[in-house]
Formats: sequence, structure tokens, C-alpha cells
Amino acid sequence: MNDDHTGACLCGSVRFKTRGPLREVVACHCSQCRKQTGLYYAATNVPLDNITIEGEDAITWYRASSFARRGFCRTCGSALFWVADDAGEISIMAGLFDNPSDLKLAYHIYCADKGDFYEIGDGLPQYKQGRPGLLTAGPSDRPEGEQSIYSEPSKSKSSSIARPGGL
Ligand SMILES: [Zn+2]
Ligand SMILES: [Zn+2]
Repeated sequence: MNDDHTGACLCGSVRFKTRGPLREVVACHCSQCRKQTGLYYAATNVPLDNITIEGEDAITWYRASSFARRGFCRTCGSALFWVADDAGEISIMAGLFDNPSDLKLAYHIYCADKGDFYEIGDGLPQYKQGRPGLLTAGPSDRPEGEQSIYSEPSKSKSSSIARPGGL
């Protein structure tokens, strides 16, 4: 089975190849992702060792929070990557992949911050905020540098410290 996948930005200045299985796609509706994409961020995630990027000098990195940066193509503006410091992983926008991508959307996070002009109607799980164990940019109103604690929105009272893991 071939687990290699390729993708590129709109103009093709940035190309990448991944090796190994891709994580399920997470849709993040937080205000940072909403503003960067105009809608929401849908990304898979791989270990940094499993990706080769061509055209890295075409990437502009925007540090949207104290612990993570967002990469986009400086020529065409395509949103590309989200990388938390020291996470050893990189989130990749699912829409960049060449078809067939074998990707599947799994759930939605930060639904409380989503744009008010659309509904989520695909029947997948929706989290008001993040999901335990998944590091994300978090609500835009979170003070810079504060460690966030994510909890399941409705079910258990247990919460867990988010660990660098990718959007
Ligand atoms: Zn481009
Ligand atoms: Zn987000």
C-alpha cells in the first residue's frame, strides 16, 4: 500500500510530499482559523519527519499565538500549515492534497467561535472548544502565553492539559 501523498498551494510555488498515514481531518472553526481562511480550517497532521517541502522560501510564517505559527504562500495566499513550537508535527490543510487524498473529516472543534453565516450539518461530532489531547490555537480571546485547558463540552467533567499535537 502506498502511503505517500502530494500536494501544493494554488500557484504551485510550495509543494510537499508526505510519507506514512495521514491523521483524520479536524475542522477548526476558531476565530483565528476563520479569519485566515475566510471559513474554517480543515487539516490533517503528520510528524515533521514525514514531510518534505519544496519551495519553503515562498512560505511566510505568521505567528498568530505565542506557541504556534501559521504558514501561507506569499505569492498566492494559500493557507498551508500550522505548527506548534516543539511539537514535532505539522498540520497541513486538507484541501491542498492531490486527489485521491484518502482523507476523511472526523470532527469539528471550536464550534462556539464559528461564523454565524453557516451551519454544520454533516452529523460529525462538534466540540464547543478544543478536544482533549489536541493542541489548537484556541479561542482568540485567550491571553498570549496562557496554557489552555480543554474539556469535553457536555459529557465528563474531566479535563486535560492540551499537549502539542496539531490542529
Ligand atoms: Zn502559492
Ligand atoms: Zn482554529
